[in-house]
Amino acid sequence: MPRRPTSIDVARSPAESRGFTPEAPCDCRRCPRLAAFLDHHRKAEPVWFNAPVPSFGRDDARLLIVGLAPGLKGANRTGRPFTGDYAGELLYSTLLSYGFAQGTYRADPADGLTLVDCMITNAVRCVPPENKPTPEEIATCRPYFAARLAALPNLRAILALGRIAHDQTLSTLSLKKSAHPFAHGARHSIGPGLSLFDSFHCSRYNTNTGRLTETMFHSVFHAIRASIGHT
Ligand code: SF4
Repeated sequence: MPRRPTSIDVARSPAESRGFTPEAPCDCRRCPRLAAFLDHHRKAEPVWFNAPVPSFGRDDARLLIVGLAPGLKGANRTGRPFTGDYAGELLYSTLLSYGFAQGTYRADPADGLTLVDCMITNAVRCVPPENKPTPEEIATCRPYFAARLAALPNLRAILALGRIAHDQTLSTLSLKKSAHPFAHGARHSIGPGLSLFDSFHCSRYNTNTGRLTETMFHSVFHAIRASIGHT
């Protein structure tokens, strides 16, 4: 039976993804400031990953989790999204609780953890200074995100961790931000059979300040499970 079209087919539009692969090449220098930042850290920390961090998970995933960008001492150090800093502790424990991961998370890409029906990526693939990519850098990395979306044929749910991930998703799919305002716990219908869920980012800052609690984070995954069911 033919696959049912979704809004992700929009992401196949030539303007965004033509000529781009779902993962950025390790020597991508399309953002000069970010490339220079990585150059600096390659010298200062030569054993760190220090390159565009590839997505982690399955190409047949129904759930795509979108973060902001690699953390300097987390994913940029280890080479796996959300691995090695606080944000990963909450994210991976939650994925394990809701059946989107198997194994044990040990903050190490060699921990053997696998994702189930799920992929994790970032709106911007290179670590930005102070976790703040510029609007131009977000737009420059967008074709890789568009290609990532286009390469997930079974996608039914996108979880945006924070406003930048949310806005990157809307821009990629040519959807109006005014029609889909970011709000923790919100669910947006963004196409046939496709929903965008929002959560505050699971950063240490957000959890330390009480902006995001574990209960709040789990409730978002509860809603995602209720939406897409189990495999
Ligand atoms: S952020 Fe994206 S587009 Fe910019 S240099 Fe890194 S991989 Fe390339």
